[in-house]
Amino acid sequence: MGGDDLIAQTVLSSVASPGDAMRSVQEAQDGDVLGNYQLERLLGEGSMGRVFQARHVRLGRQVALKVLRPQHAQDVSFVRRFFQEARSVNQINHEHIVEIFDFVEEPQRGQVYCVMELLRGQSLASLLKEEKLSLERIQRIGVQVCAALGAAHAVGVVHRDVKPDNLFLVHRGGQMDFVKVLDFGVAKILTSEGTGNTLDGTIIGTPTYMAPEQAAGLPVDQRADIYAVGNLLYEMLAGHPPFQAPAFGQLVVQIITQPPPPLPDRLASGEPMPPALAELVLRCLAKEPEARPQRLEEVTTALLTLGSKPAVSLPVDDEEIPTRRTRMRPDAWWLNPRLPMLVGGMAIAMLAGALTWHGMEKLLESPAPAPVEAPAPVTLTVRTFPEGARVIRADTGEALGVTPLVKELPRADAALGLRVELAGYVPLERQVRLDSHAVIEVPLAKEKPAPPPPAPAKAAPRKEVKRDALIDPFAQ
Ligand code: ADP
Ligand code: MG
Repeated sequence: MGGDDLIAQTVLSSVASPGDAMRSVQEAQDGDVLGNYQLERLLGEGSMGRVFQARHVRLGRQVALKVLRPQHAQDVSFVRRFFQEARSVNQINHEHIVEIFDFVEEPQRGQVYCVMELLRGQSLASLLKEEKLSLERIQRIGVQVCAALGAAHAVGVVHRDVKPDNLFLVHRGGQMDFVKVLDFGVAKILTSEGTGNTLDGTIIGTPTYMAPEQAAGLPVDQRADIYAVGNLLYEMLAGHPPFQAPAFGQLVVQIITQPPPPLPDRLASGEPMPPALAELVLRCLAKEPEARPQRLEEVTTALLTLGSKPAVSLPVDDEEIPTRRTRMRPDAWWLNPRLPMLVGGMAIAMLAGALTWHGMEKLLESPAPAPVEAPAPVTLTVRTFPEGARVIRADTGEALGVTPLVKELPRADAALGLRVELAGYVPLERQVRLDSHAVIEVPLAKEKPAPPPPAPAKAAPRKEVKRDALIDPFAQ
């Protein structure tokens, strides 16, 4: 990755040349004290700056400090971009995105840095150098990356530099491969002004992972990240990225003009390549953004359903109940037109943070249950518009949670009544069949404002005494 970063750095420098004014300011070193933090150890170096393990001098808390390179620290556009990173990340606030606690600018000393949660683990780039990943690990990592980026896209942030070096894998609660997306340093917030939700055409990012439009210096939107996810999946599956060239120009030409080489029949791990996944990856790598999956939920759906088996053996019937629900059946389950809705719902819930990694893991790990003798629980997904509504079982009064809700419930043949309540909105009841996974979407209608008090009849005698009585706390 070092070479890539060098190239990226060159590109960045050419975009906003900092000049030599700050050459005299020293790079941060181990042992330096920056504000409240003592730098303990250099963790990594990227295009924007150096990342250190650091310790709060008084509280002892360990953090990671990303220090902007001195030659960039006085460049307004760099500082703005660096600040933007902290802001974007906080705006997204997702468990699979590294948390940034603070952003500090010390103009006197020419230092600009941000304070982050300290991650312990390794980057995907270093893992890929050590190991060939199994399909299962690729799925897990891919789903989490999509969840994080999907959440970013949902608030209008495009990462623009998704690559193995910017994905960190940590152990969390005994869970391996918990993904943290790093480095929103070149992320951009989409605005609806001007060019229709596109970004300016600055060439920025790491060439190996750039989308063609990005490499061509054209405006990009979230579909550039979808391309990068394709790139990432390609590399995890094949063991190398689709395009490799010794020089920046050659690489850009390949990315813009050449189709990616087909994926091999076998993964780098030796497992057979699932054709549906290979097809999806190549679609993500389409030159034209329009030809790619338009949303990451589609990629998540494909990853989650890979190799999964049907939950029930019942055929799908078209009988409508007053909920939207999805069933999977064993034969041709992947053809079920409603399947994407199910997994899409889960994906949306994941993006909204409702489905935790634990939940995802269960999803990925849950073996196909035998239809009859193993009544595995089913997943109920409830979304409301707006979100934040309470979902209550009508039969027991049990509160199931708040939307977006993803909950495992015992499989049952009888319909279950759900009450959906949100202050200021008309409460609703919905029936849902839990004989298979179910997704329901409930648009809520605003409660009508209370009718105005009846106008006093003109002929009626004045009722001042009564009115006073209403507001007099001592009155009977
Ligand atoms: P750049 O914008 O300079 O590329 P990154 O945010 O990608 O900066 O960080 C550079 C490297 O530092 C990462 O690849 C990673 O190895 C390490 N790193 C970054 N953030 C953290 C963190 N919060 N905890 C531990 N290591 C980190
Ligand atoms: Mg980086």
